Amino acid sequence: MTINLLDLDAAGLNDYFARMGEKPLRAKQVLRWLHRFGEGDFERMTDVAKSLRAKLAADASVTPPQLLRDSAAEDGTRKFLFDVGNGNAIETVFIPEADRGTLCVSTQAGCALDCAFCSTGKQGFNRNLTAAEIIGQLWQANHALGRDPHGERIISNVVLMGMGEPLANYENVLRALRLMLDDNAYGLSRRRVTLSTSGIVPAMDRLREDCPVALAVSLHAPNDALRDRLVPINRKYPLAELMAACRRYLETAPRDFVTFEYVMLDGVNDHDGDARELLRLVRDVPCKFNLIPFNPFPQSGFRRSGAEKIRRFSEILMTAGIVTTTRKTRGDDIDAACGQLAGQVQDRTSRTTRTTRTTHALKSIQVAEIAP
Ligand code: SAH
Ligand code: SF4
Repeated sequence: MTINLLDLDAAGLNDYFARMGEKPLRAKQVLRWLHRFGEGDFERMTDVAKSLRAKLAADASVTPPQLLRDSAAEDGTRKFLFDVGNGNAIETVFIPEADRGTLCVSTQAGCALDCAFCSTGKQGFNRNLTAAEIIGQLWQANHALGRDPHGERIISNVVLMGMGEPLANYENVLRALRLMLDDNAYGLSRRRVTLSTSGIVPAMDRLREDCPVALAVSLHAPNDALRDRLVPINRKYPLAELMAACRRYLETAPRDFVTFEYVMLDGVNDHDGDARELLRLVRDVPCKFNLIPFNPFPQSGFRRSGAEKIRRFSEILMTAGIVTTTRKTRGDDIDAACGQLAGQVQDRTSRTTRTTRTTHALKSIQVAEIAP
């Protein structure tokens, strides 16, 4: 069976080359070709011996997920739709800003955690993405976006905030993170790679040891009663444990604060009293808040808080000295906003293609028909 080299981080490539009787230097050369230069054709890896190139061509492949669609929004946001086989599609979003270019990467097809306000959650869980499928989104997006006039890459930041819960796919996410940080691969600084989690406490502790990157935590509620309803994983890892895990994480984190994400749901979690309760909750955790106006999807049962409500909520936090930003909704016209990523995922149990979201950007694509 051929091995997909995009599944391997530097240590994995070293092992692979060692098994072939090759020196670590070869692994490093190939790592650079694959990720620093984005090369997928062994023949073009010109400083690799011809005999080794032939061996690689026979034994290995470079297989990123297949790009099905690339759509651009009016504000410059780009959305990439990838086929990950068996009727599953995932999405990756590129968000250009004046001082950076951020790629929002998916880690699972669907998600098992079923947060009440999330379209991905409503689709159910399909499967974990492989390391090649996770890093492959960056690989493919780099190809699609090209380089800036100085020859630099356009993507300067990565956020693991697309479809899926990254800490529920720990091993594959870890390999992909290591490649993002590796100087011979993407060379991103730890501060420019942010993992967002709904709060899987034991995995936060592992990440803190294995590969601390910037951390965002999806809080969404100031007390257990409400969070149990909105983010069901809270029943397993309640707020007191989550806050303690945040404090532990900060001991090794590249940034000295955690970003709390807070989706603004009209009449549900957006009262002044909720903001004040939040202040008490996060008292001992150095943090910033990022308020996310809820992005609606059919049958969600929630409405977005009004602009004035969001402003007041932000003001209460800010007055108490917590830096609070409100996320601009980007890529609205291509349904690339937070919590809207869906694609069309085939429900394997019922063997029908569920269109949990029909969007103008996606509805012409029947992934299930294209997949082998
Ligand atoms: N599973 C991870 C990362 C992916 S979700 C997590 O939950 O943190 C990225 C962010 O978008 C999370 O904060 C999530 O709660 C939020 N989100 C999900 N659905 C949303 C929606 N419909 N509107 C706005 N934000 C949403
Ligand atoms: Fe999963 Fe995150 Fe959506 Fe919750 S918000 S269902 S954890 S992707």
